[in-house]
Amino acid sequence: MTSPKTRASADCQPEQLSVDQALTRILASIRPVTATETLPIQQALGRILATAVQAPIPVPGHDNSAMDGYALATGDQSLASTQGLLLAGRSMAGHPYTQSLQPGECVRIMTGAVVPPGADSVVMQEDVTTHEERIIFPEDFQPGDNIRRAGEDLQPGQTVLEKGRVLRAADLGLVASLGITEVELRRKIRVAFFSTGDELVAAGTPLQTGQIYDSNRQTLAALLQQPPIEAVDLGLVADETDALRRTFIAARDQADVIITSGGVSVGEADFVKAVFSELGKIDFWRIAIKPGRPLAFGEIPRRETNETTWFFGLPGNPVSSHVTFELFAAPALARLAGASPTTPLKLAARLTHAIKRRPGRQEYQRGRFTQSANGELQVSSTGNQSSGVLSSLSQANCYIVLAAQSSGHQAGEQVTIEPFHTHI
Ligand code: AMP
Ligand code: MG
Repeated sequence: MTSPKTRASADCQPEQLSVDQALTRILASIRPVTATETLPIQQALGRILATAVQAPIPVPGHDNSAMDGYALATGDQSLASTQGLLLAGRSMAGHPYTQSLQPGECVRIMTGAVVPPGADSVVMQEDVTTHEERIIFPEDFQPGDNIRRAGEDLQPGQTVLEKGRVLRAADLGLVASLGITEVELRRKIRVAFFSTGDELVAAGTPLQTGQIYDSNRQTLAALLQQPPIEAVDLGLVADETDALRRTFIAARDQADVIITSGGVSVGEADFVKAVFSELGKIDFWRIAIKPGRPLAFGEIPRRETNETTWFFGLPGNPVSSHVTFELFAAPALARLAGASPTTPLKLAARLTHAIKRRPGRQEYQRGRFTQSANGELQVSSTGNQSSGVLSSLSQANCYIVLAAQSSGHQAGEQVTIEPFHTHI
């Protein structure tokens, strides 16, 4: 029979989840914010569409020429290639030829100019010869040659951009090509963040023995600098329950998400989980990941607005907090903001050196990949992989993802890499 003591400690042992299980649980609980705002497209880069954009007009609006050349009717083919056609006028971009083409006539036409009524083909200028007032054409042109059809890019009513789209430069150009000046976007999400730890000081202050500079808050601030996010820096908070409680309450009252670093393991000064659990519901997971366990994930319902403030308690080690932000918090923020989190691209690369490891946790080593002249990818890890060594991340351009059960790799073996990427 289990003694009460053993049972208690077994109950305290959090459940161990795989990386995928943890992410699936997080994403399953988060619903996108519903409020929207309508903004001019000049302010929409990187923001998330709340309603699909439909084409109000065809693009292009008219049949137009894909070449500088001559527009003619293919019915005139034999005349065109023997005696030639009479040059009746010009159709320039922005200055169409307004009359109908008559039998025996052709029109000089420039790229993008409207194909005049009566013409059904354009022959490029390099293929014709001029003979007095007449243009002599080759024999081998077809109806539709060198004509860009009205609506061949977009038809009226067609969905051009789906709801949830993170707007990129080309999207905004596409929207402008339809004459649309404003788009409806999801509101920005507010993310409050702070660091915890008595040993931390902000850069700019001289260090006393035992103190270190707070780097996580700077990394987080930069990771949160995204168009759909309004980040609120709540500073550096001591390992004290009162200070933590005050800061959590301030964060809850203004943010959709609270992100902290430090204080979530089982050390004597790790109060973050205890204080948060007074305010909301918290799950404390041991994720089979290296670096990065443990991770706290919680929620506080906000009754007045029927919304929720989400909480990510990231570990304090700088590499761990960055990795767990990217793997868990970033997709959650994308979902909350109204985008669909994207799965990172996975590629195979050849290891330049051996990696020894103990099986058990899925590992995200920091790596640098390069491409050789024959196109093959090679990858090396960036030195010391301890979770406190931030330079290993700064020098990296990818993660080398090692499966939980892997006990290592030989030099020359293929491994999976994930080039760094962003969700929103
Ligand atoms: P903790 O998760 O609070 O136990 O912290 C784990 C390790 O990360 C300790 O060595 C801390 O000193 C370090 N650490 C915690 N927070 C930060 C921070 N904001 N910047 C740099 N290092 C930190
Ligand atoms: Mg700490």
